[in-house]
Amino acid sequence: MDALDGNICRCTGYAAIRNAARALCEKLGGMNDAPAERLAALIGSGVVPGYFGGIPARLAQLRAAPAAAAKDAVLVAGGTDLFVQRPEQLMESELCFLSKRPDLDYVRVEGDVLRVGGAVTIEDFRLSPTVRRHFPALERDFLLHSSAILRNKATLAGNVVNASPIGDATIILLALDARLVIAGEKGSREVPLSKFYLGYKKTDLACGELVSEIVIPLLPAGARYSFEKVSNRTTLDIAAVNSALRVSTSPDGTITDLRISAGGVAAVPLLLHLDSFKGRKPDAAAIEAIAKAAEGEARPIDDIRGSAAYKKLLLGRLVRAHFAVPAVAGEAV
Ligand SMILES: Cc1cc2nc3c(=O)[nH]c(=O)nc-3n(C[C@H](O)[C@H](O)[C@H](O)COP(=O)(O)OP(=O)(O)OC[C@H]3O[C@@H](n4cnc5c(N)ncnc54)[C@H](O)[C@@H]3O)c2cc1C
Repeated sequence: MDALDGNICRCTGYAAIRNAARALCEKLGGMNDAPAERLAALIGSGVVPGYFGGIPARLAQLRAAPAAAAKDAVLVAGGTDLFVQRPEQLMESELCFLSKRPDLDYVRVEGDVLRVGGAVTIEDFRLSPTVRRHFPALERDFLLHSSAILRNKATLAGNVVNASPIGDATIILLALDARLVIAGEKGSREVPLSKFYLGYKKTDLACGELVSEIVIPLLPAGARYSFEKVSNRTTLDIAAVNSALRVSTSPDGTITDLRISAGGVAAVPLLLHLDSFKGRKPDAAAIEAIAKAAEGEARPIDDIRGSAAYKKLLLGRLVRAHFAVPAVAGEAV
């Protein structure tokens, strides 16, 4: 089912989908497996339209993104935000593609940081052996980011630059204290993700600059992490509110580092101000106070994902939930 995840429109009902799948299996039975012959046969039998035959050649002609983004061209990563937001404009624009930049497609550890190239897709990141080793929970958490078909196109950097206040990757990266390497004509600079958002959909990215790398500090020994997301539909939906946590405690159990991010509760992805809780033990009273502080900092608006009051309450619940997950509560997992 992973291969079909996100591909099936359920409006027709499940019986129609089952019938179509059965008819297709009968038609494809005995068909040659070689991709070119299979495609020709699918076109010949009317299963896919004729223009599918020209797609490989057209993909090969796409223009690669230059070292710094060209000022006159639109930079496309996976296109999963861009092509939804401004399809007409893109038809008229010069496009350049990060998928044509293999030099930006890497995930590697250097010293105490994970370096992720600006063209890495969510799915490649999620399944990277390096990510699995250093951030084992992310393989599961990123399953909450759209469907397989989307994750195979959508990139981590695209999620960050799109600047949605509810981007799942963005919220996770904020709690993990990620930094962006931004490349421009005059060289590159590094910006903490927590300083990247200047206002609603406004970022510290100048015309002609691109995010060439995301730098994620490895979890310090003993640090614990959690991600929570609530959406109107259980799966394959954008968050109403999402939140991530990174917390470290000293041997005597007091908090030495506490980062909680919150999405869907402000104009920008929010990193909560919780320094005053350092030095306290994360006992029931402290967790309650942290949840209240989070609710106090939230400035949500009413929209189709819920009322402002609902989202504020939800954030408090998600913060309490972070501390209740076994990995954070210090229980065996
Ligand atoms: C059906 C559907 C479901 C979705 N579900 C979710 C979900 O569950 N959670 C979620 O968070 N999002 C979701 N999204 C939103 C989207 O998939 C993500 O935000 C995705 O990560 C965007 O990445 P992209 O590579 O497609 O970006 P693009 O659409 O290619 O680009 C987005 C913006 O970023 C810019 N950009 C991209 N890469 C760079 C770079 N390296 N440097 C500078 N600028 C850059 C582009 O120019 C553009 O302005 C969904 C979208 C759809 C269509």
